[in-house]
Amino acid sequence: MYHQIDAAPAKGTPFRQLTTTPNNFYRQMIWLARIGYRGVSVRELAPYVKGERQGRVFGITFDDGFQNVYRNALPILRQFGFTATCFFVSGQVGGFNRWDAEIGVPYAPCMSRQEMLDWAAAGNEIGSHTVDHVHLTQANPWIALNQIAGSRAQLEDMAGTAIVSFCYPYGDVSSDVRDIVRDAGYSFATTTRKGRASSGDDPLLLPRRNVCLGDGWLTTLRKTILGRPVAS
Ligand SMILES: [Zn+2]
Repeated sequence: MYHQIDAAPAKGTPFRQLTTTPNNFYRQMIWLARIGYRGVSVRELAPYVKGERQGRVFGITFDDGFQNVYRNALPILRQFGFTATCFFVSGQVGGFNRWDAEIGVPYAPCMSRQEMLDWAAAGNEIGSHTVDHVHLTQANPWIALNQIAGSRAQLEDMAGTAIVSFCYPYGDVSSDVRDIVRDAGYSFATTTRKGRASSGDDPLLLPRRNVCLGDGWLTTLRKTILGRPVAS
């Protein structure tokens, strides 16, 4: 799980840990490639998680749809022949991280529609992250449905492709919210539950590992593929 791929924010910036520098991202990808692993989007990862396919793969996700992912991560993904899923806030395509403003996270632009289309044309997945990046368990069911199904419809309109993957903003999910995601037609959804996805997981409640600002390539390898999976 990545968010922004950009220069390190100033010390004291809220959620500073959610940025990975382009150089670190490059080193993480090159080491995974060197030991024979391929990075893939959630939809490509699914058959491996279900045990229908075998291979050295790991999933790559970017939350929020930041333009710096387009600018700094996409060229690196292309270089290695990797794919990834970016979860877009459909109401902010061409906008910015408005939902973060009140907690003091610096302004960061989101990808434009054209950049999102380029992202998909390179083989990457467009996933949904609601319309407005809301806390779904705090929303009434009608609003939650609008946020979950509405973002899918908006992204499908913008991209002209089926949207099958969802990501719960803030990792905020309940069994009711999970069922709304299922009813809205999604096949996969990612959480912030810490762990390695396996065939025993509900495809609509997939765990992830967060890659932090200070994580070098070895830490990233430990979090993703080496050693024992983290019990959650
Ligand atoms: Zn988010």
